[in-house]
Amino acid sequence: MSSVTRFAPSPNGLLHVGHALSAIIAHDTARKNGGRFLLRIEDIDLERRRPEFVTAIFEDLDWLGLTWEEPVLVQSEHFSEYLAAADRLIGMGLLYPCFASRKEIMTAADPENVDPDGSPLYPGIWRGASAEAVGERMAAGESPALRLNMEGAMQALKAKRGDKPLTFVEVDEEGGQQTITARPERWGDAVIVRKEVPASYHLSVVVDDARQGVTHVTRGQDLLAATDLQRLLQELLDLPEPVYSHHRVIRWADGRKLSKSNQDMGIRALRDEGATADDIRRVIFEG
Ligand code: GLU
Repeated sequence: MSSVTRFAPSPNGLLHVGHALSAIIAHDTARKNGGRFLLRIEDIDLERRRPEFVTAIFEDLDWLGLTWEEPVLVQSEHFSEYLAAADRLIGMGLLYPCFASRKEIMTAADPENVDPDGSPLYPGIWRGASAEAVGERMAAGESPALRLNMEGAMQALKAKRGDKPLTFVEVDEEGGQQTITARPERWGDAVIVRKEVPASYHLSVVVDDARQGVTHVTRGQDLLAATDLQRLLQELLDLPEPVYSHHRVIRWADGRKLSKSNQDMGIRALRDEGATADDIRRVIFEG
């Protein structure tokens, strides 16, 4: 079957070799079986996104020899669609407003009880808050984040699927398939619509993967656990289920993550030092 893949960078820094690995895997997977390769600019973080990084993404991918379909989907142009998806969840009674500050959350949270990213689970401060309490904050001009009522969501899932477990298919580099059980409850009452922007990473990713007909999500292992929550949202929103490949993450020899900010192993830094696109492929595939 020919696949539709995508590379979905956030334009808040320059691409490094880790991004090149993601982009090349997605591109080559599509090209191998006559599929389609899409590029998506994930710029919902309006504070951090910068237009020059969008331009740099196009230039660096082009320099790497990749080609993608036009038009490129730019997430900040689609907030109304993310809100429409959030509205469906609201209609199902699964989102609730949360006005808590980060500080309030950290103070109330149990530091031992963390999500897969290591952040303390939301301690439920606004879960079940009265309409009056919400109204007061709204009247004061505050805008809330919308959180998923995870317990309610798991019940809604059960009502839909019965005892059929929530799973996803992970495809390895040799094409071997493994069915993994998703455990979205590990994320607690996750933020689905942020305070500052009418979307969140998880919501916009599932809406766009579905809208763009993505059949095969390829991305770094660091997003493996996020798949659990994304599969839950797909089920609740009746969106199709892609297959997944989470590739290894390139790190420094001492285990440190590459970072966008200090241009560790940046594509253009390496290019300026005289590296070719083939050198980059050699580095990322042969180490
Ligand atoms: N925008 C995300 C990032 O740059 C990737 C999202 C994804 O591939 O699902 O880390």
